[in-house]
Amino acid sequence: MDSDYVTSTQISPVRIKWHLKIDFPGNTVTVTTVFKWGTIARGVTEAHKTAIKDALKNRVTAVWSNNYSLKVTDATCNPTEKTIPIRFRILWDDETTIGHHYNANVKVGPATSDITGFEANFDTLDTDNNSYTLCHEYGHTLGLHDEYFYGSNTSGTVTYKRANGTTEAITLPQSGNMMATSGDFTMKKRFQYFVEIEAQELLRSAAGLGKAGITCEVV
Ligand SMILES: [Zn+2]
Repeated sequence: MDSDYVTSTQISPVRIKWHLKIDFPGNTVTVTTVFKWGTIARGVTEAHKTAIKDALKNRVTAVWSNNYSLKVTDATCNPTEKTIPIRFRILWDDETTIGHHYNANVKVGPATSDITGFEANFDTLDTDNNSYTLCHEYGHTLGLHDEYFYGSNTSGTVTYKRANGTTEAITLPQSGNMMATSGDFTMKKRFQYFVEIEAQELLRSAAGLGKAGITCEVV
């Protein structure tokens, strides 16, 4: 939560939390987010909660998973590189020993859905439209910024950092992707660069493989 992977001229960096596991024998990189029920507004039923929880755990993770892979290189290994699919997983706090990252608050829709700090504010209509809103808001829990203009803005950029120290600046407004256009589930590679940054730092550290020469790249 001390990293920022994306900067936007429209909004300040925010702190985020998620859990990363890189399983070489299992050939999977897993990004896990753990939710816990927070404030449930009057009128929200158990059926509403179940629908939101099921959509987050199934639909959202399916949309986000298996679009891109993590290429890991290490000149001291044989073979010197391995490419592993990136998967996303959402759990509830009673399903894991990983501490929860976000409170899931629910109101009856229509209401404003957003991620404010570690509060994920959803409404009962967020499962409409193939759960587009849930898929989009999940992107914010991973640190991503909107790629559309706010209010009367007429200029702006979003800059994505990469593990190799370079950046990719995107001129706003964009369209035709998950963070820009309602109902569009297109997943851009840049939306997953944050994984290469943290994967590289993890594998280079004592908590991972402790190898300074490792590089990670989303491909
Ligand atoms: Zn948004």
